[in-house]
Amino acid sequence: MKTFQTPMGALKVEVLGHASVRFDIGDKVIYVDPYSEVCDYAGRTPADLILITHNHYDHYDKKAIGPIETPQTAFIVSQNVGHVDARYTVLANDEYCYWEGIGIFAAEAYNINRRNPQGDLFHPRGVGNGYVLDFDGFKVYLAGDTEPIPEMQDLPRIDLAFLPKNLPYTMTDAEFIKAANLIKPKYLYAYHYFEIDVPALKKELDPAIELLN
Ligand code: ZN
Ligand code: ZN
Repeated sequence: MKTFQTPMGALKVEVLGHASVRFDIGDKVIYVDPYSEVCDYAGRTPADLILITHNHYDHYDKKAIGPIETPQTAFIVSQNVGHVDARYTVLANDEYCYWEGIGIFAAEAYNINRRNPQGDLFHPRGVGNGYVLDFDGFKVYLAGDTEPIPEMQDLPRIDLAFLPKNLPYTMTDAEFIKAANLIKPKYLYAYHYFEIDVPALKKELDPAIELLN
């Protein structure tokens, strides 16, 4: 658990494993991509908001959502999760909404090179979302399942970034470094990884970036 000061107050960040992260701000609890293989959600504080980046089983996991959802939980999801019920808001790439004063932008997240054995991109363009959460100026970027993409150049100044790092689905270590040094967040977490060599990553990262793994 790590706490960041934002204009909206203290933001507590808990990395739960794989692409799953929890944010606490004020009395609100936000979960991103809850995933039951890496975390037991039973007995955890219920969600005020759940963000889902895309419909792969390791991101949209009903077994993980079950223990933390309530009739009041809001969901902000990608197009391929869809409008499951009245609690769900679907954001397409480049769409923006506000929830409880937090700006939520759906960024692009897609593969350029990485394909399954059938030749299809794991994450075709326009399907999944990354998210930029704007806590009144303190901006958090969750990249989703993506390779380094040109749209990363157009991101606003990011305070805290989560970038994925695994093959064959997202980025190599070199691509992770390239994306991080381009976005240049103040704080960085590698997430969605199978293995990690923190000292090796730190050596290549811009010294202005603090890797928190
Ligand atoms: Zn995926
Ligand atoms: Zn994934």
